[in-house]
Amino acid sequence: MARSAVFLDRDGVLNVEAGYIHRVEDLHLIPGVAQAVRQLNDRQMFCCLVSNQSGPARGYYPASHVDALHLRLAQLLQAEAGAHLDALYYCPYLSPEEGGTNPEFTRWSTWRKPNTGMLVAAAWEHDLDITSSFMVGDKATDIDMAHNAGCTGILVQTGFGDRVLTGDYQHHTKPDYIAPDLAAAVDIILKNPRSHAQSGNEKERKL
Ligand SMILES: [Mg+2]
Repeated sequence: MARSAVFLDRDGVLNVEAGYIHRVEDLHLIPGVAQAVRQLNDRQMFCCLVSNQSGPARGYYPASHVDALHLRLAQLLQAEAGAHLDALYYCPYLSPEEGGTNPEFTRWSTWRKPNTGMLVAAAWEHDLDITSSFMVGDKATDIDMAHNAGCTGILVQTGFGDRVLTGDYQHHTKPDYIAPDLAAAVDIILKNPRSHAQSGNEKERKL
């Protein structure tokens, strides 16, 4: 049976929202995030990063810099709580209308949120059941992607989340849950009957 996953946005959910991060050392975890991811790891929930990263398309930095940021992210999660992400997906593409300039990455993409390409690719490659999965994000487009794909959308109030809720950023959205931060979102997920249905124990019994 396909397993459920927790899809995680990056900026404003895992790390402090800081616009385009040009220096690797400027990526910092939001307090409590590493411990929250560790809780998901311990329950054998599949943790999957899904992130729009248009810096390469805008010509701000090469795609290798995004990889370097993700290496630091992984190192910080590990160092702070022994936590890890099971998979990472990001979309470096951006249409010319949205500001793409580097021809290598300038195109419309099914992977760019709120399109569902990253979730579909992850589900395909890791045998995930999207309808019993959760998406945690701080933007309306994160929630839109969750709903476009048929998974539960949780809006956190870190990053842009508070401004989305007051109507000062992007557009109105109706998340399934609102949580102050990722730690609170993980509490919601772990109490949700859907997340228990295919927890680690079940998987082990099956084996
Ligand atoms: Mg974000």
